[in-house]
Amino acid sequence: MNKDLHQLIQISNLDKEIDALEPQIELKRGELDKAIRSKESKNRELLALEEEKEGIKLQISRNNQVLQDMGAKLESVYKKISEVRSERELKALNVEEEIAKEQIAQANQEIQRLEGELDHKFGMQKSIQTAIAQLDETIKSLEGKVNEDIEEIKAQQHEIFDEKQKLIVVMDQKLIGFYEKVRKWAKNSSVVPVRKQACGGCFIRINDRVYAEIIQSNDIITCPHCGRILYIEES
Ligand SMILES: [Zn+2]
Repeated sequence: MNKDLHQLIQISNLDKEIDALEPQIELKRGELDKAIRSKESKNRELLALEEEKEGIKLQISRNNQVLQDMGAKLESVYKKISEVRSERELKALNVEEEIAKEQIAQANQEIQRLEGELDHKFGMQKSIQTAIAQLDETIKSLEGKVNEDIEEIKAQQHEIFDEKQKLIVVMDQKLIGFYEKVRKWAKNSSVVPVRKQACGGCFIRINDRVYAEIIQSNDIITCPHCGRILYIEES
């Protein structure tokens, strides 16, 4: 195989190795990101519950106001009853008394219900706070480890990159330029083997004349169909 082609295959393999490490970084980050996002969403839940609690408290204070008003109302009714002069007047006052009592009972019932709801929201907040504390622990322990792991992977990438740079300086610069151009669209399948006389990138069959040229391997040959750089695998 000609030297240029051999070096190009090496370069392309090194590029593949560098790229293959990328998902590992993503994977490491993914776990941490997930914990951070989960914490953010729990914080939003907490805030929403706080707002709901405020709303309930407002309703409770409205009902307390009803209790106060109706208490005052009853007092005035009782006062009037003590000074009542006719049966008709007494009947009307009794009706007013009943209505006030009923409203008091209703308000009390409503307050009880609202307080139960408030307790429930409070309990939900507690359990969310516990979950947040656990997530904080997870985030803290992951942060250190993830950063360490990523640094390690990046160091590996760097090593491979250095190896690639060493190769590049001794190579034909025009060829490197050409390879980079192909790589822009073909990514990690820029330099592909020919298998069963078909391009290893687009899988279209290569005609006998081009195939013979690739076998001779005196030049850099590209696929007539897709433009990827081709080579014959050495057995
Ligand atoms: Zn092709």
